Amino acid sequence: MTALVQFDNVTKVFGKSIVAVDNVSLSIAEGEFVTLLGPSGCGKTTLLRMLAGFEMPTEGNITLAGDDVTQLPPYRRNVNMVFQDYALFPHLTVQKNVAFGLERLGLPREEISSKVASTLSLVGLSDKIEARPYELSGGQRQRVALARAIVREPKVLLLDEPLSSLDANLREAMQVELKHLHEQLGLTFVLVTHDQTEALVMSDRAVVMHNGSISQVGTPAELYDQPATTYVADFVGTSNLLKGMVSKTAGTGAEVAVGSTKLHCNGAPELSVGQDVIVGFRPEKVRVIGAKEKAPESWDVLECQISEVLFHGGGIRLRCTLRDGEKIICDVQLGTTAEKFGIPEAGSKIKLAIDPDNVSIFTEDDRQ
Ligand code: ADP
Ligand code: MG
Repeated sequence: MTALVQFDNVTKVFGKSIVAVDNVSLSIAEGEFVTLLGPSGCGKTTLLRMLAGFEMPTEGNITLAGDDVTQLPPYRRNVNMVFQDYALFPHLTVQKNVAFGLERLGLPREEISSKVASTLSLVGLSDKIEARPYELSGGQRQRVALARAIVREPKVLLLDEPLSSLDANLREAMQVELKHLHEQLGLTFVLVTHDQTEALVMSDRAVVMHNGSISQVGTPAELYDQPATTYVADFVGTSNLLKGMVSKTAGTGAEVAVGSTKLHCNGAPELSVGQDVIVGFRPEKVRVIGAKEKAPESWDVLECQISEVLFHGGGIRLRCTLRDGEKIICDVQLGTTAEKFGIPEAGSKIKLAIDPDNVSIFTEDDRQ
């Protein structure tokens, strides 16, 4: 697939020494939904603004559909941005807000109204065409902002935390709507978010950023199942990350001592005995083993004490402590294990088991 958007070794330095984006190279294919994901301050907005033309890179190049646009002003690029605060004209109707960009292009009146009408219908606002922004809910204003960006048929739609000011239920509904809109339009979407759920739900690929650099690019499943670093394992979903030391190696397998507990991993990187590592596994991969039950052959058993039981609606999260004090989180779906053994209580002892296929080993810890 040829890249529609290409960042080549792009760096942005503000002032003398604020490195907002640090040597980023990234290809985005036509029609893809890509999210830039990372905590506040990691450079997401700056990267997006350089693609929009609102910031110029200090170094590197950006190409759009094969053309070098690095030095082009925003209006000469076929991209459009939806801002976090919507930036609607408060005194103009929905129709006028959406038509604004087209009027400036000098399109014929009939063409404008037909485009505006079809775009508003696409975002489900046909009945609000004469309303003003203050008469609309947050979600509806967000849709107007989207319609205004889409109506000009950009090659790439840029969205900077578009859902962050909506409340949780609406945000979830809009995530699905945006995803459907993307499928219907077939446009390329680049969305910035600090919310990993949002990135996992919506994107074809997510770009996990850390201190201005890319940590990992992958499909949501790749990022979740095969995080490349402890930072990604920690930021995308929740991970148990325990310090240990390699005690045995065998082919692609390894045994790691975490205190006095031995954990096994199938599919480890190349390791040597005595090496310090981080062992990682997901809380939902940990299974509770009943008092009279045996853990599956080849699984590792962790003897813990429950320090806290947190009710999460569909499940419970157990915060547990291993013999030597390491903390582990275990997520239990209600209706499965918990029903069988009863909901465990804080303070009680518990046996947990983990399949070595679900354990990863990291050779360094890049969290901060
Ligand atoms: P994010 O969108 O991931 O929160 P930003 O791209 O907004 O991150 O910011 C990345 C870094 O660059 C931050 O340290 C921020 O303070 C800095 N920064 C962003 N814009 C400017 C600017 N116009 N001038 C100076 N520093 C900036
Ligand atoms: Mg930002």
